[in-house]
Amino acid sequence: MNTITEQAREIPVKKETDVVVIGGGISGIAAAVAARRCGAEVTLIERSVCLGGLATNGLVCVYFPLDDGAGNRIMGGLAQELLHTTIKYGFNDLPDCWKDGPLRVEDQPPGARYRTTFNIPAAVLAFDELVQNEGIDVMFDTAFCAPVMEGNTIKAVLVENKSGRTAFAAKVFIDASGDSDLLYRSGVPTETDPECICSSWTHEIDASAFAESFAKGGLKAAAPLRWFGLRPDVDNTNSVIPKFDATDADQRNAYIRLSRKLMLDYLKQNQRDDYCFMTYPTQIQTRMTRRIVGKKELNCVDAYAYEETSIGCVAHCMDVPAEVYEFPYEGLYSTAVTNVLAAGRMVSAGGRGWEIMRSIPQCALTGEAAGTAAALAAKGDGNVDHVDIRELQRILLANGNILHCTDAMKEKETHWNDYHKNAKASDGVMGIKFDSLSYDEGGH
Ligand SMILES: Cc1cc2nc3c(=O)[nH]c(=O)nc-3n(C[C@H](O)[C@H](O)[C@H](O)COP(=O)(O)OP(=O)(O)OC[C@H]3O[C@@H](n4cnc5c(N)ncnc54)[C@H](O)[C@@H]3O)c2cc1C
Repeated sequence: MNTITEQAREIPVKKETDVVVIGGGISGIAAAVAARRCGAEVTLIERSVCLGGLATNGLVCVYFPLDDGAGNRIMGGLAQELLHTTIKYGFNDLPDCWKDGPLRVEDQPPGARYRTTFNIPAAVLAFDELVQNEGIDVMFDTAFCAPVMEGNTIKAVLVENKSGRTAFAAKVFIDASGDSDLLYRSGVPTETDPECICSSWTHEIDASAFAESFAKGGLKAAAPLRWFGLRPDVDNTNSVIPKFDATDADQRNAYIRLSRKLMLDYLKQNQRDDYCFMTYPTQIQTRMTRRIVGKKELNCVDAYAYEETSIGCVAHCMDVPAEVYEFPYEGLYSTAVTNVLAAGRMVSAGGRGWEIMRSIPQCALTGEAAGTAAALAAKGDGNVDHVDIRELQRILLANGNILHCTDAMKEKETHWNDYHKNAKASDGVMGIKFDSLSYDEGGH
């Protein structure tokens, strides 16, 4: 039997709403919150039982910087708000100079980036509180399966959960699934990264690190437990890092199996009394999988170039000082389908641009812009290409986003250059003490 024909059947429409968001990772949270704050009725569909996606279920407990490494904050809005949400009830190591989120920090100690580590359970609970307070309808434990199309417009999405198959109809949809599931299936052109590397993040209690940190500040002190990425080449520099096409179900399974085998190997090698694993990822830890080829793409060749339709500034998290680029609104959609926007690690940015856009703050930024635009489109004819970009920018700006590069961002202070010339990521340029055993630039 090579194929079978699925039987036609009546599917109940569970809800008709303004905006449906698929995926409750950082980008989906930002999209839902932004759309709701613009007055839209929003349903957020999440297949796991927690919000946060890779940042929580994937154990990525490091919120990358909102600054350019030279004292300038380059992001605001929900990227900034969600950073503070992750640490609202748990530990953090946010440098004091950034605690109130100033636009510029003159006396930022070298390496004191506007970034933080956070406690994952505390972040999950804070995300729940945020979406509840905003009045967002969240459907946990519910997986998007397929779009229902009318020409090149999405009328509804089919989902599966314990109640069976139901539909959610909406004027506008946001795909925040991380893998462009809705966009791809509705006919938006996409590009796949067939070389997604496997470096499994995990967390362990290291008794000596724990004791040191506890003595300094109790459980609220940063990093009471150690987190690190495991890679197959840790002990064998000649081994090839396996790469996967994470849009293929069989390859995903191979990735998941390898990732846990790395954990088991590590456990077997480290049978000590002073540590134990704390947790394991409940979401596959893939970076770039499938992204859209949008109406426009991030130009990350011309740093500081003026982008008329910019929704916000972005930079590579590991560069210090980092060059800044402006992300265009048209990078969130393709005209192939009228009423769907991309948010998060699958917006229109290739190569190095994709690396830049997959960081947590950038995912929050594109989520916020997509949510705001979706609410505007829902008030109009539903077509995301008809959104009044000036109005979108006005709202983003009013909500604290930084749309264009400032002169201060362009002038990198000399003392920063001197410091950064000699610094390496492993020296704490990011303010993060990486485990040199298992973590390198490819590991984040
Ligand atoms: C190993 C690793 C280390 C990283 N290190 C860092 C770091 O140190 N700092 C940093 O800032 N960034 C880091 N990143 C990148 C960053 O974590 C992610 O790119 C970012 O969190 C992605 O957010 P997102 O919302 O776009 O997607 P995701 O977090 O992937 O969220 C997608 C959500 O959609 C849900 N979903 C998927 N499919 C469906 C469906 N069919 N139906 C319903 N729901 C669905 C998922 O359950 C998930 O909740 C790292 C990534 C990896 C993999």
